[in-house]
Amino acid sequence: MNPAACAHASVNCLNQYELIRKYRCADCGAVMMCGCDEGFGRRFLSHQLAQGVELETQERVPVTAGFQPAICNGCRGLPLVAAPGAAIHGRTSKIKRFYWRELYFREKEQQANWEAQNPDASAEQKAAAAKRIETSVLEEIKRLHETSPLYDMHEPSSAEILKRYDVRVETFHPEFAATPEKGAVVILDGSVVSPDAFVASKYERQGWSAMRLESVPLHALFGTLMWLVIEDPSDPRSRMAAFGSRTAYEAGTQRPLIWLNLPEDFGTPGFGRRRKAAVDEHFDSMFRMDGAADREWLLHLFDYWRGPSERLRQYLWAHRDADMDRARKLIEVLSPDTILAILEYLVGNYWGRYLGWPDLMLWRQDEILLVEVKSSSDKLSAEQMRWIADNHDVLKLPFRLAKLHRPSRQGTVKARD
Ligand SMILES: [Zn+2]
Ligand SMILES: [Zn+2]
Repeated sequence: MNPAACAHASVNCLNQYELIRKYRCADCGAVMMCGCDEGFGRRFLSHQLAQGVELETQERVPVTAGFQPAICNGCRGLPLVAAPGAAIHGRTSKIKRFYWRELYFREKEQQANWEAQNPDASAEQKAAAAKRIETSVLEEIKRLHETSPLYDMHEPSSAEILKRYDVRVETFHPEFAATPEKGAVVILDGSVVSPDAFVASKYERQGWSAMRLESVPLHALFGTLMWLVIEDPSDPRSRMAAFGSRTAYEAGTQRPLIWLNLPEDFGTPGFGRRRKAAVDEHFDSMFRMDGAADREWLLHLFDYWRGPSERLRQYLWAHRDADMDRARKLIEVLSPDTILAILEYLVGNYWGRYLGWPDLMLWRQDEILLVEVKSSSDKLSAEQMRWIADNHDVLKLPFRLAKLHRPSRQGTVKARD
């Protein structure tokens, strides 16, 4: 259909996380923005009006039809789609995570208006005004949410997730230390230890071996075994990227730049789909040479690629020796097919899946068990919930939650969670 004659009746948002959102018309293919964003966009974000970035592929898409009336859900009287941001950098409250875009628009506008009215203000006065505006805008949005919410902010609770995914919960009743030290809060054989160490030791007494896991050993495993296909210079979307050395950063010394070939969509679901054939080829030619993956061979590759994978591992913050040792242990303990399943899972959406891995890995003969350790008041993070769901649906690794019950103090009865 000719875009000029099209009513753009059916549009899809390319990326809910852009401030000025772009929409593609399903009928004519034109890419446009909604008229309700025109005033703000032209005033404050004029550099974001010519192209959008597709969420899944990070591909840049030119805007072909500018601003058009009544494109967004709000202007069409449809419910808004919630696009909560991750709980990062000062965006910790639910209001801030769900209303990040509304908060930004209002703050920016009020701040610019204040500065226009106070052209001679000093930097300190501007900063103080910005602070005041931030607080009042947040209050405004809170009131708006109470009276006529734009988004449904319900997110499943830890208990709902554990029930939905049928997670076995094992309860411990340790003695809590009267004077906890940093990270060490429970008593084991007379010394104060961390909850993880406590649980690991309980399992060790039943014949299990235990290793602290969390996410970084998985990043090291991924970087070491996948660098060849990630850094493939024949990937048409590969480009040279530079970043500061993580080792130097940690040592506090000058940060030499590290250069590597990195696809511009690395870590997105789009990369996973686009490079599926190359990844399959990598698995077949490198890992399954005689049809089946072999542990000794994976260990050999892991050692052999330790050096050449250094750049990618630095990029992923998976460069420390202790994490490499734990990554190697994963290959020693998990079956080769499990290792490949983990790599395939990660490469399909690395930035969406690299966090949330459980605290402990346990093994006993051929059995393995991953364990997330929680004190009774701790909640699962959003990343941990996503991992539990994905593990249930995709990875299917034996998993358990170890819950450390803290006796309620002075007879007060705490609500059960
Ligand atoms: Zn159209
Ligand atoms: Zn609109």
